[in-house]
Amino acid sequence: KVRVRYAPSPTGFLHIGNAQSALFNYLFARHFNGTMVLRIEDTDIARNVPHGEESQMENLHWLGVDWDEGPDKPNPKYAPYHQTERNKEGIYHKYVQKLIDEGKAYYDYTTEEELQKMREEQKAKGETPRYGGHWYNASQEEIDAAKAKGIKPSVRLHLPKDHTLEWDDWALGHISFNSDNLGGDFVIEKNNGMPTYNFAVVIDDYLMDITDCLRGADHIANTPKQIAVYEALGVDHPHFCHISLIFNPATGKKLSKRDKNTLQFISQYHRHGYLKEAIFNFIAFLGWSPVGEKEIYSKEELIKAYDPNRMSNSPAYFDQHKLDWMNAEYIKKMSVDELADRIMTLVHENDSEEANKLNDLKMSDDDLRALLKKVIHIHQRDVYKLIEIMDYAWFYATILDQDLSYDDFANFDKDETLAVLNGIKDAVKDLSDDTTPDAYNDLIKKVGKDVNVKGQKLYFPLNIAFTGKSSAPQINEIMAVYPVATTVKLLDKAIA
Ligand code: GLU
Repeated sequence: KVRVRYAPSPTGFLHIGNAQSALFNYLFARHFNGTMVLRIEDTDIARNVPHGEESQMENLHWLGVDWDEGPDKPNPKYAPYHQTERNKEGIYHKYVQKLIDEGKAYYDYTTEEELQKMREEQKAKGETPRYGGHWYNASQEEIDAAKAKGIKPSVRLHLPKDHTLEWDDWALGHISFNSDNLGGDFVIEKNNGMPTYNFAVVIDDYLMDITDCLRGADHIANTPKQIAVYEALGVDHPHFCHISLIFNPATGKKLSKRDKNTLQFISQYHRHGYLKEAIFNFIAFLGWSPVGEKEIYSKEELIKAYDPNRMSNSPAYFDQHKLDWMNAEYIKKMSVDELADRIMTLVHENDSEEANKLNDLKMSDDDLRALLKKVIHIHQRDVYKLIEIMDYAWFYATILDQDLSYDDFANFDKDETLAVLNGIKDAVKDLSDDTTPDAYNDLIKKVGKDVNVKGQKLYFPLNIAFTGKSSAPQINEIMAVYPVATTVKLLDKAIA
């Protein structure tokens, strides 16, 4: 039975790279009817950030990546799911002790200063730093002397010499490392009693019956060390899959939290009006692709189509245009009501300038929702992000305060334009505020006939009067957004 895990370290908020790992584990679990586990790798206490864990979980929920087991859904057979708690229970040390007893691991009394000096000397000689294994062969007197000095030892795994550590990777195919090239015997338990990542991850994956371990390709160099631990324990390792890292096309390098101008945290995508469905679809194509040309896939379709053999072995370039295009496609497909719900959520969260501006209008939720629905209807086909719809709604709601440009009137015959604007004004002034777009459509046509003006000469002046631009989508719908009194004032301004 397939069991996979997403194992975040709560050292930051959910980044697109984390989300990518989580999402492929999720697709893997769901495709094979397996179990998805969430494990919190929080042993690097100094690097944990406040709310890092909550943020990871909240944003995964938003994205629709859920898990079957985790801190909030413990399975007694495998709990607890925080490494710090597991450490308190002595889970890791038990295996450290076992390896020590079997002579496969040993205490290392090298002090931090000595290690530092060793590294510097090796660097100066142009060598890659490696631990020489001194304490593996240390005499009892030497050990007693170190103990007497009160030095707290760490524990290192003893690596077999010139030994091949290899695996078949879902993404990379066959990979092998020589044990001599891993920087020497490595620490499995720090001198503060904490297990190292490479050790804890093995113990947990083993005890949690993880069958497949999908994680970022930045972990490739860790995998031979982990395999060495599995071998020392005498147990099988899971099937590994190293997911392509996400590259920034602008720098040609791995996408970095320092790259300005690129949204990278899942909460930012949400705040900027990307739909979770679009983000999910987009991320699924970072490091994987299905057969064929189709690119818009629902979550269910992705689960069905997912095939770990199609995981890519080359960098995944982050393509902002593709993301925007995908988001636009999802916005086009979504119902007006659903879009209005999503935007109301953003407004209530009040986490962006656009939401701020709408909140400042102090409209009731019902009125704002009604306005948004009209605006969605107008702009659903021409925006990339929900915040653009929010911007339009704000613009229409504050149209009388906007500094509209009337420059484009110069392109039209003045008398004809005035005839149109005055004709419309006469026709609308006694209408009610809930006049429909269809009724406005008929009204514009009728006025056009009456004053004998049609086509661009009829519509463009209206566009200018009602939006300040000669090109505007469906002016009859925009008129239906405005209260009649506003329409009349806009016409008066334009006529003056
Ligand atoms: N805690 C590790 C990380 O956040 C997990 C790596 C793994 O999945 O083994 O990178």
